Amino acid sequence: TVRTRIAPSPTGDPHVGTAYIALFNLAFARKHGGKFILRIEDTDQTRSSADSEQMIFDSLRWLGLDWDEGPDVGGEYGPYRQSERKDMYADYAYRLEKEGKAFRCYRTSEELNELREARKAEGKHTALKQSDLALPAEEVAAREAADAPYVIRMCVPEEGVCQVDDMLRGTIEIDWGQIDCQILLKADGMPTYHLANVVDDHLMKITHVLRGEEWINSAPKHKLLYEYFGWDMPVLCHFPLLRNADKSKLSKRKNPTSINFYRRMGFLPQAVVNYLGRMGWSMPDERERFSLDEMIENFDIQRVSLGGPVFDVEKLSWLNGLYIRETLDDQQFMQEVMKWAFNPEYVSQIIPQIKGRVETFSDIAPLAGFFFSGMLPINEESFAHIKTEKADVVKQLQFTLWQMEALREWNKDNIFADVKMLADHFDVKIKEFLQPIFVAIAGSATSSSVLDSMAIIGPDMTRARLRHAVD
Ligand code: ATP
Ligand code: GLU
Repeated sequence: TVRTRIAPSPTGDPHVGTAYIALFNLAFARKHGGKFILRIEDTDQTRSSADSEQMIFDSLRWLGLDWDEGPDVGGEYGPYRQSERKDMYADYAYRLEKEGKAFRCYRTSEELNELREARKAEGKHTALKQSDLALPAEEVAAREAADAPYVIRMCVPEEGVCQVDDMLRGTIEIDWGQIDCQILLKADGMPTYHLANVVDDHLMKITHVLRGEEWINSAPKHKLLYEYFGWDMPVLCHFPLLRNADKSKLSKRKNPTSINFYRRMGFLPQAVVNYLGRMGWSMPDERERFSLDEMIENFDIQRVSLGGPVFDVEKLSWLNGLYIRETLDDQQFMQEVMKWAFNPEYVSQIIPQIKGRVETFSDIAPLAGFFFSGMLPINEESFAHIKTEKADVVKQLQFTLWQMEALREWNKDNIFADVKMLADHFDVKIKEFLQPIFVAIAGSATSSSVLDSMAIIGPDMTRARLRHAVD
């Protein structure tokens, strides 16, 4: 039976690209009566976080992209979190070493840099092969005796062409000369993505790997690993990446990339899924609006087109409007709005912010409007009353944006600590420093506490408004 998977690394905000790839894996599995698996690739423990993992679960569930097996639902082939499987991978690496298909490498990072620089100077390809990496036998013995750290690398042909079959692209040819002796096991005993991914896809009986085209260059290494282990390789299929309007790879500078942003903005999950389904794929009758079930029923992977699909928020908004007008009756509309933000959980956070300034309830809407808005209609005029030089305001907002993008644990104290640090850095009083931020977040300088407001509207809307103000 068909088994597909999505294998995100929990290292940041849940990416729309992850949802896009998840959708196609799900549609393919369902169409063929198979299973769709969620595996968390968290071997990079410094960058992975439990928060980020939880956001992946929440955002994919919000979209209705449910998995049959995964860390939170279990399954026959678990655990589904690589950090819980970490003791397994080393054996596989040493097995290849024993069989002469992998080798220990004692090279230090300085030595590697030198080797690469030398390569570049010669004008040759920069992939280092086993012969380049080898050290004299006595040097190896000395480092071994000194318990020097080493990694395990896979052996890779020095030359020739690797052919990889792709469901959409046919046979892809990649020169072995460009492929380095990939590290399989790091000095700390942790596997790299390549080793863990291949071992897990095998053990989890994955039959089809549908993933972004950014992984095409890894395919030769993966193919070779399957051969080395003597395992059948899953069928590969590399999807075109989502693009900005200018055709560059979707990036948060030009387009919000966090699923949470779209949720916070008040998009309907079924419209987002429908829009992602239109990324490079279309219904046989080309209709714009279709449900997940309709997509599954009509799914044919050969209908995926390889031209980079443009993720256009305006088109998504148009489609969302269509959903609101054509699929929701007034009762459902009300329920959706309540689920979104007009619910006790959200509103109760706002009350302490405005209560002190409300004389009658009719004051609420003007005071609290920005808690329910998307981008605010601000322009240069909005900042006119601020005494700080315009260039400095832009710089301060830009630094605040960067700091807020890096902030992982979102709460008022952490926001304050970051802002205070920046104010000190710019040698500005915190009150002054907060003024332009007020305008960016609330649209005007006279509002409730800006730090509380940022905490309440959340990281995605805060970042989007700061970016809007900087642009
Ligand atoms: P950055 O924004 O820092 O450049 P990124 O956009 O590449 O990072 P990652 O954190 O590297 O984002 O990727 C998160 C997940 O989203 C990965 O699984 C990646 O394959 C997927 N992804 C990232 N960008 C795209 C894209 N343009 N199209 C499809 N999937 C993407
Ligand atoms: N962990 C990888 C990612 O974050 C998985 C890539 C793959 O599907 O093989 O995209």
